[in-house]
Amino acid sequence: MKAEVKQILVEANTVFKQWKKEDLTTRIAYLKGLRDKLLVNKIAYGELMTKDMNKPIKQSVAEIEKSAKLIDYYIDNGERILKGRTIKTHWSEVFTVNDPLGVILGVMPWNYPFWQVFRFAVPTILAGNTVVLKHASNVPLSAQALEECFLVDGFPKVYFNISVPGKEVDEVVADPIIKGVSLTGSEPAGSSVASIAGSLIKPVVLELGGSNAFIINDDVDLDKIVPLALNARFQNTGQSCIAGKRFLVHNSIKEEFIKKFAEGAKQYQRGNLMDYATEIGLMAREDLAIELEKIMNDSVAMGAKIVFGGKREGEWFEPTLLTDVTETMPAFQQETFGPLAVVVGFNTFDEAIELSNNSHFGLGVAMFGKDVDFLKSKIHDFDEGAIFINDMVISDPSVPFGGNKYSGIGREMSDEGLLSFVNKKSVVIN
Ligand code: NAP
Repeated sequence: MKAEVKQILVEANTVFKQWKKEDLTTRIAYLKGLRDKLLVNKIAYGELMTKDMNKPIKQSVAEIEKSAKLIDYYIDNGERILKGRTIKTHWSEVFTVNDPLGVILGVMPWNYPFWQVFRFAVPTILAGNTVVLKHASNVPLSAQALEECFLVDGFPKVYFNISVPGKEVDEVVADPIIKGVSLTGSEPAGSSVASIAGSLIKPVVLELGGSNAFIINDDVDLDKIVPLALNARFQNTGQSCIAGKRFLVHNSIKEEFIKKFAEGAKQYQRGNLMDYATEIGLMAREDLAIELEKIMNDSVAMGAKIVFGGKREGEWFEPTLLTDVTETMPAFQQETFGPLAVVVGFNTFDEAIELSNNSHFGLGVAMFGKDVDFLKSKIHDFDEGAIFINDMVISDPSVPFGGNKYSGIGREMSDEGLLSFVNKKSVVIN
């Protein structure tokens, strides 16, 4: 490990020894300062994100506002969540306390450069830990701005950037100063970090890929569902782990869905990324767009048909819909991390469940139908970490977030997110 990286770990550990002793009121005061700083600079930070990874400015600024809401959630709920509990036993007193672990490493992706970092770092710091953050290499402006943002007047530095290539993260994970690691990103990166952390018995949270199904039963009003379907697929230019990627539609309304989805997709025109009217951006890197094009072309070679779109130019990938997709095609089996949707028909809801579960991912599923009791009766049949009924899958600070199967382990946000990196101590008094 480079000497400067080791030096940062040592510094983060020195601050931890002081930070863990601060009472919760002080840590919450820190969060208030952080939130205010974030909001004051929201346009400037938004512009940096747009420059880093081609996100339309309106979505960049919205991402900052959402991050501020997450901070508010923990300001309001931190004390309740961290409180611990008393347990009635034959001893005179038994209770639990949640103490911090130490320096926690975050390894974060480029697709939501601010949001991903906030949802990991805010609860981790509130719990009394300090954070060392390795951000994705292709968002350097955001990474630098984040470190500046987390430095709040009147408080110690509790958040430290490290600059190391992905392949060298292992030795940071292995360093004895690091007491836990949270990675959001791809399966290979998650697997690599989890194996080294596992071998050293360090806690890990992994938020990995997804290939969410968006299931539409035959009894819906498509005019209400199609705008959600479009948003679920094309938000963040399709580069979202929880995007609706596989549209499973009852065969009796499939053609009507395709027609309406195609009409709605026309609104997603290429535009100036700094213009607040622009709704879709370029993909973050050309190699990612080429990868998505290959998934599309390989599926077409196997018999899929392009309903609309299908063109790529540099980082621009036209919003695209594929039909005649089968379960063995790459567009069904792999994560399509960009604006490429696939539609598959079903005849019975049980068929839709089988299609949905036929994925090695298990992040979330959205299902739509008038009979909510019927849909609720199917919850336990799905493999995913989140089930949304009559809404698209979104992340919300108050709701636990995380996946099953190759989508990851552990949960972020809500109570679970704040308790991910704590020592849950049991205290017994005779
Ligand atoms: P990625 O290539 O895995 O990168 C994510 C982070 O891991 C980056 O900081 C990267 O650093 C680092 N990294 C890469 N290889 C590594 C290794 N072998 N060991 C340790 N760290 C390594 O993923 P990405 O392409 O940036 O992000 C897209 C993926 O993230 C998609 O699969 C998406 O679904 C997933 N994602 C999941 C969630 C969720 O909450 N479940 C949210 C957002 C994204 P470098 O940039 O330096 O390579």
